[in-house]
Amino acid sequence: MVNLEEGYWKKIPFYKNVDKTRWEDWKWQIANRLTSLEDVRKVFPVDKALKEVFLKTATIYHFGTTPYYLSLIKEFSYNDPIFKQIFPHTDEINPEKQTHTSLDPFREEELSPVDGLTHRYPDRVLFRATNFCSVYCRHCMRKRNFLEPERARPKEEYDRMFEYIRKNPQIREVLISGGDPLTLPNKKLEYILKNLYQIDHIDIIRIGSRELVVNPYRFFDEGLLELFDKYDKVWLVSHFNHPNEITNITKQAVKNVLKTGTPVLNQTVLMKSVNDDEKTIETLMRDLLRCKIKPYYLFYCDPVEGTIHFRTDLHRGVEILEHLRGKVSGLATPIYAVDLEGGYGKVPVFPNYIVEETDEYVIFRNYEGKLVKQFK
Ligand SMILES: *Cc1c(COP(=O)(O)O)cnc(C)c1O
Repeated sequence: MVNLEEGYWKKIPFYKNVDKTRWEDWKWQIANRLTSLEDVRKVFPVDKALKEVFLKTATIYHFGTTPYYLSLIKEFSYNDPIFKQIFPHTDEINPEKQTHTSLDPFREEELSPVDGLTHRYPDRVLFRATNFCSVYCRHCMRKRNFLEPERARPKEEYDRMFEYIRKNPQIREVLISGGDPLTLPNKKLEYILKNLYQIDHIDIIRIGSRELVVNPYRFFDEGLLELFDKYDKVWLVSHFNHPNEITNITKQAVKNVLKTGTPVLNQTVLMKSVNDDEKTIETLMRDLLRCKIKPYYLFYCDPVEGTIHFRTDLHRGVEILEHLRGKVSGLATPIYAVDLEGGYGKVPVFPNYIVEETDEYVIFRNYEGKLVKQFK
């Protein structure tokens, strides 16, 4: 876990005059996002090669980061796991690096009964509240959003989405995603939560947000915490990919959320030279648990155009899970999953621990590789 000292941002010359109340205000973080090459240059020197990459790529897939997330970069180069997640790379727009991809491989738009809703599984529905994010992850599975102007949906569109959910009592859970729904002002968020909360057949409102990673000050906003407390069906799912993203501020932010009775989970994307090794994932999972965040999914990188250069070998994830088994708490082990192209759903992929099976017995392989025979 990264320990950020009091006033840590003042070490960055550009932010040395920013006082604590401003830096720790989530709205300041969003209002002061860096979105252009000129912005980045205020904080880091950008050499000619990086400048060229930026200008070529970010005009197609836009760039954006909060000052907080940027401040977690240790080395301003592709060696740094945070830099790599936010700084454009020419592989994104190189057709040779983007084979067998599409902008919407899960047919989210096509499987929408109403604009903004995707109804794939009978009991769950995906609710895309906005296409705005405070940080644009280069590996985003909704990278198609980058190609549109940023906008939150107007109320009338939300109303149509509520109407569909109301009319379909088999839906028990609404996943609010985006973009990032927690970049919405509290008032707009309350409008969504209130309406969903009032639908009796909704048991769970799952909010998928990266604000805990890129703008943890969001969870120091009393107004938001009151909403979580009041609309008591909320679960929060975050998206940490690397231990460098977990700080003492994350821990405090999660504590604030847990006090409202809201469980906090995490999903990670397995990415080439960001986190595709045993040690990094082990540390990440341990640090998540230290913050009381439960690792939920580890995803195989999706075949989304502009992101597939992050893809690892499929079996890398299985090997990493095998490494975790027995070595770290069972609580620290996520489900490794592949989201099937075409909108066929997520499939879990597990290491195989059954080596042989007959009518009488089963031979298991334990975490140490020892074979153990058990009669049925
Ligand atoms: C991932 C996803 C869900 C949720 O799946 P879980 O396995 O419950 O996490 C629901 N709807 C859509 C469209 C999804 O992509």
